[in-house]
Formats: sequence, C-alpha cells, structure tokens
Amino acid sequence: RAKEEGKGRYVLYDKSMHEAFNERMNIEKHLRGAMTGHEFELYYQPQLDIRSGFISGFEALIRWNSPELGFVSPLSFIKVAEDSRLIIDIGEWVLREACQFMKDIHDRLGHPYKISVNISVIQLLQDDFTMMVLDSLQESGLEPGFLELEITESIFMESFESIVSKLEFLKSRGIRIALDDFGTGYSSLSYLQQLPISTLKMDKTFIDSLSVKAYSQSFVQTIVQLGHNMGLEVVAEGVEEASQLEFLKDTGCDKVQGYLISRPVPEREVLQLLETLQDYGV
Ligand code: C2E
Ligand code: MG
Ligand code: MG
Ligand code: MG
Repeated sequence: RAKEEGKGRYVLYDKSMHEAFNERMNIEKHLRGAMTGHEFELYYQPQLDIRSGFISGFEALIRWNSPELGFVSPLSFIKVAEDSRLIIDIGEWVLREACQFMKDIHDRLGHPYKISVNISVIQLLQDDFTMMVLDSLQESGLEPGFLELEITESIFMESFESIVSKLEFLKSRGIRIALDDFGTGYSSLSYLQQLPISTLKMDKTFIDSLSVKAYSQSFVQTIVQLGHNMGLEVVAEGVEEASQLEFLKDTGCDKVQGYLISRPVPEREVLQLLETLQDYGV
C-alpha cells in the first residue's frame, strides 16, 4: 500500500514538473521571436517624492503581449529570458527605449524626471555592459544623473568583485544604482557596505506587513535609518494604502511607488498621468 501511494505521488510530482517544464519551453519558444516581432512594450510607474509631493521619476517595466500566449507577466518570462540569455538583447532594448523616452519627456516638459531601469545579473556579467550603458545614454542624449539602474541581491551569488567594479565605474560617470527588493534576498550587511549604490528600494513585503504585524513598523523604521545612515535614498515599493504612505512619511522615507499613486501606465498615458498627479496632496 505504501508502495502504491509512493508510486502515485511520484507520478503526480513528475507530471507537475513535466508541466512546468513544458510551460517554460513554450514561453522560451515564443520569446525567441518576440524582439523581432515588436511584442514588447514599456510601461512606466511614477515615484513620488514624499517631502515635496511631486513626481520625481519613473520605473520602466516591461510588458509582453504575445500573439500566441497573450499577455505574459514578467514574473513568468524574465527568468526564462535569463536562463536562455535572451535577456541580454531584451534588456538592452529596454534600456535604450527607456533612456530615449525620458529624454523626450525632458525636452517636452523641461523637467528632469529620473528613469529607473531593471537590470538582470546576466546583463551585468557581460563584458560590454558598461559600454552598452554609456552608449545608450549618448545615443539618447539623456544625462547620466537621470538614469538609475535597479539591481537585485542576486548579484551576491555571482562574480561579485567584477560586478562591483562595473557598478563603481558607472557610478563615477554619474549614473545612479538602486538595490531593488531590498531585504528579501541574500545580502549581508557587510556586502551591502561594499556596493556603490545610491538608493535602497525596500521590498513590498515590508510595506504589506505594516498593517498586519505589530513589529513591522520598527522594521521599516530601521531600514529607513540604515539607508539614511549610509547616505542613501530610501524608496518604498508596493504602497497601496494611504495609511502606509502616512507612516512612511512620518518615518522619513524619501520616496514611494505603488498603486496608491498609480499603476504602471503605457508610454502614451504618461503625460496625462503627470498632469493628474501634479499636486498630489501628501
Ligand atoms: P520590480 O522591479 O520589483 O517591480 C515592481 C513590481 O511591482 C512591478 O511588477 C510593479 O508593477 C509591481 N507593483 C508596483 N506597485 C505595486 C503595488 O502597489 N501593488 C502591487 N501588488 N504590485 C505593485 P511587474 O511589472 O509585474 O514586474 C515584476 C518584476 O519583473 C519586477 O519587479 C522586475 O524584477 C521584473 N522586471 C520587470 N521589467 C523588467 C525589465 O525590463 N528587465 C528586467 N530584468 N526585469 C524586469
Ligand atoms: Mg525594480
Ligand atoms: Mg522592486
Ligand atoms: Mg519587488
């Protein structure tokens, strides 16, 4: 009987692994043609500067509308793109597109909003990564101080020294570096100290827990203090409720991003959004 059960279990397990594998293969198959098929689009989510009450910049977030699969979340395809190394070309497209768009916004509005772009560790490992970034800036005409690269704690698992030296070089050129999803990954405080970052993006899970767990307020306060003591700007992600914003304001957190302010919007809606948010009362 135990044997039968074990066998049955095994089949189930095997089947779901098989399904997951098929799904990944299917995504990869269609991902291969997505660049040439112009199936990607960038959405932009505003960041609010809490003290001034003004929008200070945007995060670029990729969207994939596949003719075969429909809308696929980046949470499902970025990993596949990394494993297949397709992320190298996709990520370069994202960066060039985002820089170009922000330069257009600067020219149109005469106001220097920042643009934050997510960078995969696979991109950082490329020899020509730094040159590619400088070239994207040059080609677009965007000033380096308005570009922020978002990296995650996954870089701690890779060739750390080589990545740090690339980031240091980019920082010396005026480009900002943000540590995304801070608090969820592998970073120890000693690694954190060695990273040439300008911004800490506190992960959404800390914000979510604000209203649920009693001690979470002190967690958030501690992260904000840590960031400030290191001379960093602190951004809270995934802010959905006014009470969370209120608390973050009292805590001295610098910026917020989240559905409370706005969902990510397509390029054509950005100007309208800026008008709507012009005097966001905080
Ligand atoms: P992330 O960089 O941490 O981006 C924040 C994610 O949280 C985005 O999901 C955003 O839409 C979502 N979000 C923002 N505010 C709220 C909120 O108030 N509530 C909730 N529930 N969610 C909120 P998205 O766009 O689905 O992207 C997911 C992840 O995919 C990103 O997490 C990032 O790691 C990755 N990603 C997205 N675009 C790119 C890209 O161009 N390149 C790379 N390498 N990764 C990307
Ligand atoms: Mg990000
Ligand atoms: Mg994030
Ligand atoms: Mg996140």
